[in-house]
Amino acid sequence: MSFVSQSQANSFNHEQLEKVMQQALVSSADNTDGENASYIPYLASVPSDLAGLAFVSVHGDEIVLQDADFKFAIESISKVMTLALVLEQSGAEDLHSKVGAEPTGMPFNSVLALELHQGKPLTPLVNAGAIATVSMVEAYNCEDRWQQILAFQSQLANSNIELSQAVNQSEQSTNTHNRAIALLLESSGCIYSEPMQACDVYTRQCSTLFNTLELARVGATLANGGLNPSSGKQLIQPENIPHILAEMMMEGLYDTSGDWAYDVGLPSKSGVGGGLLTVIPNVGALAAFSPRLDPFGNSVRGQQMIKQVAQTMGWNLFSSQQH
Ligand code: GLN
Repeated sequence: MSFVSQSQANSFNHEQLEKVMQQALVSSADNTDGENASYIPYLASVPSDLAGLAFVSVHGDEIVLQDADFKFAIESISKVMTLALVLEQSGAEDLHSKVGAEPTGMPFNSVLALELHQGKPLTPLVNAGAIATVSMVEAYNCEDRWQQILAFQSQLANSNIELSQAVNQSEQSTNTHNRAIALLLESSGCIYSEPMQACDVYTRQCSTLFNTLELARVGATLANGGLNPSSGKQLIQPENIPHILAEMMMEGLYDTSGDWAYDVGLPSKSGVGGGLLTVIPNVGALAAFSPRLDPFGNSVRGQQMIKQVAQTMGWNLFSSQQH
């Protein structure tokens, strides 16, 4: 009995995939639904019509289309990278017991979700859980914590990732809600470093700039057992990959994660900067960027493009064949 028949569905031809991706860009071009995030002033100023699409295979094959070299704020997609870093440092059990792996079914910055669970965050992929995850990074001080996170982002992107001072200032001056979340975590004993420092580093990790290709390389590492196909470096232990992808499937698109699983069936993560990352295990990763968001904080065109490509290619973890 063979367990590898899925790999046949997972094989692809470069030219065919590039064509499918081009078509997805074209068919979403007229979609002006949604709006840039405005609660972070910088994000409101990014040109709304930008659209980038990229793919990186587990062998390092790259497809880069349209505005895929435009640098945008990584925002919540940073949560996946810090989750991976903490899994590497503390292990799956520690992370699971302190932060969890349940979808909240609520907005990404929900205080109600915390209150309903005795102040314990449910997943590293919402703000409360992400701030707690940042606080778990083993560090000497706040600067060391930040430098480790930044270095890990660079390794995953196989590129020199930098903080945008403009995005960071814009976020730090408007993040009172997240600071309140950090204090609530302190009151319930669910934060593991000084809360305002954890919130500060969390805000910085959201304020780094990636282009769509660099984002796809992060996903290709997750698709490839933790080995970055672009650098050849093993960045995440293979046993941690299923935990990361499970969190992405459960909460990657917040309170529309269930709809996304129903339609697309691939672990993904969005950010309010307009980025969207989708992992096709053992194949590669698709990344999209387009700033207009749906009411839940997910890129409208990003979702449309990735859904179209994944469905056309037959990529869905929940597909099965007759035997
Ligand atoms: N920095 C943003 C925040 O904390 C990230 C949110 C997001 O991308 N969903 O609100």
